[in-house]
Amino acid sequence: EFALISLKDIDDVAKSSFPLCMRHLFEKLREDHHLKHGGRMQLGLFLKGVGLKLDDALAFWKAEFSRKVGAERFDKEYSYGIRHNYGREGKRTDYTPYSCQKIISSTPGVGDHHGCPYRNFNEENLRAALNKMGVTGRAVGDVMDKVRNRHYQLACTLTFEAVHGSSCDAGINHPNQYFSDSQKIMQ
Ligand code: SF4
Repeated sequence: EFALISLKDIDDVAKSSFPLCMRHLFEKLREDHHLKHGGRMQLGLFLKGVGLKLDDALAFWKAEFSRKVGAERFDKEYSYGIRHNYGREGKRTDYTPYSCQKIISSTPGVGDHHGCPYRNFNEENLRAALNKMGVTGRAVGDVMDKVRNRHYQLACTLTFEAVHGSSCDAGINHPNQYFSDSQKIMQ
């Protein structure tokens, strides 16, 4: 039931409808032309969940990674993992995108960009990221209050409400739910 996205509007859609955890990975990938394994899994499965087709996913990751490691090394070392996420390699399991609970409980190391920013960012970086999403004024303080009490999903829900100017009574419990709720409002 998730909306399909195509490669040509992926940047616009990322800005309008990705939750902060995925925006962060997306921006880091565009910036560094690379993501470590945890980030490739978290973002890759999310993109699969929003309907990015395998061929488009391969083209998307290859365009970035090629600029860092070259096309040949991408094909050799990284394309397998993407096909694997889509159930085309190994055990052929069709892996499901990660829930908030799973993402929040992950433990990113140095140089990792996966995980939940509400939990992992310091206050300054989180404020800057919220401002970039268009969250300003009192709403920022409300989000920070939730973060201080370790209610990361509530912080994300308040962000959703501030960004969309619309309530989200069910609360955010999955990045793909954030995306589909956002798309419903945008359309
Ligand atoms: Fe992502 Fe969930 Fe954290 Fe929001 S609460 S940033 S959707 S992991």
